[in-house]
This record gives sequence, structure tokens and C-alpha cells, in this order.
Amino acid sequence: MWCKRVNSIPAFDLTQQYKLIHEEVGRRTLEVLASGHYVNGSAVESFEQQFAAYLGTAACVGCNSGTDALYLALRSLNIGSGDEVITTPFTFMATGGMISAVGATPVFVDVDPQTYNLDLDQIEAAITDRTKAVIPVHLFGQPVDMTRVMAIAQSHQLWVIEDCAQAVGATWQGQKVGSMGHIGCFSFYPTKNLGACGDGGAVVTQDGAIADRIRVLRNHGQPQRYCSEVLGINSRLDAVQAAILSIKLGYLDAWNAQRQAIAHRYSEYLRHLPGIVAPQTLADREHVWHQYTIRVLSEAGESQNRRDAVRQKLQEQGVGSMVYYPIPLHLQPVYADLGYGSGHLPVAEQLGREVLSLPMFPELSQIQQDQVIYALKDSLL
Ligand SMILES: *Cc1c(COP(=O)(O)O)cnc(C)c1O
Repeated sequence: MWCKRVNSIPAFDLTQQYKLIHEEVGRRTLEVLASGHYVNGSAVESFEQQFAAYLGTAACVGCNSGTDALYLALRSLNIGSGDEVITTPFTFMATGGMISAVGATPVFVDVDPQTYNLDLDQIEAAITDRTKAVIPVHLFGQPVDMTRVMAIAQSHQLWVIEDCAQAVGATWQGQKVGSMGHIGCFSFYPTKNLGACGDGGAVVTQDGAIADRIRVLRNHGQPQRYCSEVLGINSRLDAVQAAILSIKLGYLDAWNAQRQAIAHRYSEYLRHLPGIVAPQTLADREHVWHQYTIRVLSEAGESQNRRDAVRQKLQEQGVGSMVYYPIPLHLQPVYADLGYGSGHLPVAEQLGREVLSLPMFPELSQIQQDQVIYALKDSLL
């Protein structure tokens, strides 16, 4: 029993990180405000260069969000009406949504219960004459086996767009995610491992011609001002966000290392708890723990969802948690007309019932980690 009331722990907390860097951020923000260049400009160009160098890619194009990054990537490859794109159903809606937004059809392939990522053994069976691309998502910060994805893609002449929104800094066999596919898409939404103070995103690629097309597409399809050659959109990164991202990029590896230490400690204690499965860490890849997501095992035919009960008990003990994602994309109402039903992608559906993401942010203290662990033990009783 607790002797005194301990403070509650949120699932994430952005205020502590801001306190750490507020002087630098304040100074650079005022400089940008004084410069009069608020959209694109030198702050954006220098962030684009720093981010490409960090990832080891030839080019980076900033844009307004991770959602736009996916849209621009698909458009730059001319993917549209009549085309199919294979992806995971166990992801944020943006991944499937942007496939639909360009007029293509998402084809959902079930996930691997260990990594929560696309089950690569099932991709080839889903390829048809219309398949143009695969979008692997490095979910929760855990990289997909990119060697295998690229081999499958090459043998079927498919494009690979990596959705790296949750995995900035993660590596597959020493290479950063986003640098191995034809295109990598990033989100700088505030809660991501590298988060702006507002919306932001980036598209990265090793192919200069693709980068050029994306630069045109993000600016209304205008290679030159007021002359549109293709239909584009307005999706620019603003200078204040770019300046803040440049500062934060300098801390990213240290922050990711703190996330890894927290995950390691959680796993030490949680690995042997009955009734849950702790997330896997695989030796051939570096996980950056955007989320630390356990499974609260359910039994067939249970009337009450055990995960929801555990989440409620954690909440009563002041420990926040989140469910990413309760409804896989193939069962989203918006996709009813694609013809998937309950039971079609059983692993994703089971994960939807079982996953629970525990508090995870670099500044989470050891005392707070212990509080989470004890509260979880209690909640499982
Ligand atoms: C956050 C996220 C996106 C979208 O990024 P936004 O910047 O919020 O538009 C896309 N895919 C995944 C997997 C995400 O987690």
C-alpha cells in the first residue's frame, strides 16, 4: 500500500522536455519571428539538410504533416485510381487514408503478433497486377525487416514507402528507417519522438528526381511561381517549426536512449507477469519505443474485455495508459465498402482487443516507472 498519495502519471508529458530546452527554443523562435521569413526559407532548408544528413538520405522535403508526407509520396510515384497499395491494418488511420485519398485502394495484410508489424510472409499472396506499392509501418518505434521488404518489392517491381512516423532514429541492421525504401515519411506531430510545437512532416528519399517532384507537389504543382504543371497542394513546413526541430534533432539520440532504458527496465519486471505479454525486442534492429505496448491476454468468449478492466484499474491508481489501436483499419466504418469482415485479419483484431500502451516519454523517472510497474501488477490481480 502507498503510505502517501503519489502524483499521477500521464501516458505522455511534453512539458518537461520543453522546460529543458525552452531557452534555446525561445531564442531561435524570436530570431525567426524577427527575420520575416515564416514559411520555407533558410530555417526550413537548413533543417531539411540536417535531417537528411542524420538519416543518411540524399534529400529531405519538409511538409505540413506526416499525413501530407504519405500523400505527397504516393502522388510523386503516380499512384492513383485503379492501383492497389499493400499495408498494415494495425496503424494510425493516416496510412490507409492517404492511399484512398490519392484514389488507390488499400489492401490490408495481417500483422505479426510478436512485432505488431506487417507479416512479411503474407505479402506475396496479396500482390495482384494492380499492386503498385507497399507501405510498411515501423509501428511503435520497432523497425520492419527492410531487407526482406525490399527483396519482395524488387522481385515484383513495387515501390516501397516507409511510414516512419513513430520510428525516427530507429535502425534496421545499422541503417536508419526512411533511408532504405524508395521514400520515407515522417511526422513531427508534438507527441512523436521528434515533435514540433505544432504540425510538421517530412518526406525523404535517395532519389533526387522523386524529391524534385515532391517539392513541386507541395507547392500547388508549381515548378515556377504561378505556373502549375500538375495538381498539387499547399503543404509547407513553417520556419518556426523547422527552427525548433533543428534544436530538438540535436537531442533525439539521447531522448531515444532514455526511452530504450525505460523500456528495458519495464521489460525486466513485466516479462514474467502472468496474463500479459511484454513487447519484444529483437537483436537485429534498434527499437526507439515511441510506445511501450503490452498485450493483456484475453480468453475466447470473455464477456468483459480484460484490457479495458486493467486500464480502468491503472487509471484509479493514477497511471495513464492508451489504446493504440482499438479498431484495425479494415474494420473502420469508412472502409465498410472494401468488403472486409470481422475475422479476416485475426491477429490485428486480437491486438485491437489486447494492446495497452504504458506511460512512455524520455523524462519518466525511475520512481514513476516503479509506480507504473506496481500499479500494473495490482491491476492484474
Ligand atoms: C502520426 C502518424 C501519422 C500521421 O502523422 P500526422 O503528422 O499526425 O499527420 C501517420 N502514420 C503513423 C503510423 C502515425 O503514427
